[in-house]
Amino acid sequence: MISIRDALDLVLGAVVPRPAEEVALPDALGRVLADDVRAAFALPPFANSQMDGFAVRARDLAGASASRAAELRVTGTIAAGTSELPPVEAGCAVRIMTGGAIPPGADAVVKVEDTESAGGVVRIAVAPRPGEFVRPAGEDVRAGDRVLERGRLLRAADVGMLAALGRPTVRVASRPRVAVLATGDELVPLGEPLTPGRIYNSNAYALAAACREAGADAAVLGAARDERSELTAALRAAASFDVALTTGGVSVGDFDYVKDVMDEIGLERRFWQVAQKPGKPITFAARDGRLFFGLPGNPVSSLVCFELYVAPALRRALGMRDVFPATVDVTLRATVKTARDLTELVRCRLDRQGDTLYATPTGTQSSGALSSVALADALVVSPPGIPELREGTRAKGLLTRTDRPLGSTHPFG
Ligand code: AMP
Ligand code: MG
Repeated sequence: MISIRDALDLVLGAVVPRPAEEVALPDALGRVLADDVRAAFALPPFANSQMDGFAVRARDLAGASASRAAELRVTGTIAAGTSELPPVEAGCAVRIMTGGAIPPGADAVVKVEDTESAGGVVRIAVAPRPGEFVRPAGEDVRAGDRVLERGRLLRAADVGMLAALGRPTVRVASRPRVAVLATGDELVPLGEPLTPGRIYNSNAYALAAACREAGADAAVLGAARDERSELTAALRAAASFDVALTTGGVSVGDFDYVKDVMDEIGLERRFWQVAQKPGKPITFAARDGRLFFGLPGNPVSSLVCFELYVAPALRRALGMRDVFPATVDVTLRATVKTARDLTELVRCRLDRQGDTLYATPTGTQSSGALSSVALADALVVSPPGIPELREGTRAKGLLTRTDRPLGSTHPFG
């Protein structure tokens, strides 16, 4: 039996990076950038006004104040988008709108609120600094700057940046194709009635959803019965994908054939059994850059193994820089008994009070209790050698849900 650490190293060591593909910018959200993005030109591309007001020569207004307003002759108007720019001569001003290009001669903008216009003349009661309310060319990004790094998970602002740089398409890592295959005679497909002794195939749906959350394409191959020839055909089909996930049939039960069949069809098994709870019977194989995870059947175990091994492998394949779940220091709100000889991953809900992040175990920690994962924000680590995590002690938590806002109080309340 190997440690989580060694198992994860074996998994990550077998990962082959995904080839890149070009996608239309609107489809780039949530994808991982395949190349560095450099700016072909500066942003903003030209100096422009930060305010609606008047483009002026700061030196013309040197002595202006509330008691001594200066008067300038207004010689034109520049809107956002105007390209023919009337120059600003000595003693003159040009009306300008936010985003309008700063005309030749001007070096500052006075906002409209500080002015009074009448006839062709504007009265100005302030003395602007040179550069005031001017957004210089390249203030945001200089030409040649590396604005986005390869391996970056593209978010809304990144999509905005690519659009500002005029990119209609972007190269991203292609999504790994993941096959999800459940195994077990007890499994009933959704839509069919449940008969005695049987359960719905929930793992296939949960794992396929987890794959999609992690940026992969998932194909559900249904459920194979616990029968060697059927399992062999199904595993062969799954093994032709970039990544295959099976659930069930990897333990020591009489009908747990997955390991044997994996060996028979020539998948190179790298490990079976990891010193962890839940998820101990996980098995992993790799061949020609394709990964094969035999996940346990218990719903909690399969999802915890997904977080621990499959998600980091998918992130590595996508070229992401950070592949591990973020860790946080938590304080236990309740005592929980844990396995003395294994690393236990306790499903917990988090809440914050002041600077302290508290972790509350999500009810029963049975590996069959899907609710314990559904309610959890984090997996709190109980290392081997200790029989419990005591209330009030500190522990390490792996964040599994980063999308739930943790604040319960209004930040501006
Ligand atoms: P196994 O690893 O095949 O021995 O299964 C362990 C437990 O997980 C058993 O209680 C199974 O009924 C359950 N299980 C196996 N596969 C699934 C599945 N696809 N969906 C829900 N529960 C499952
Ligand atoms: Mg089974």
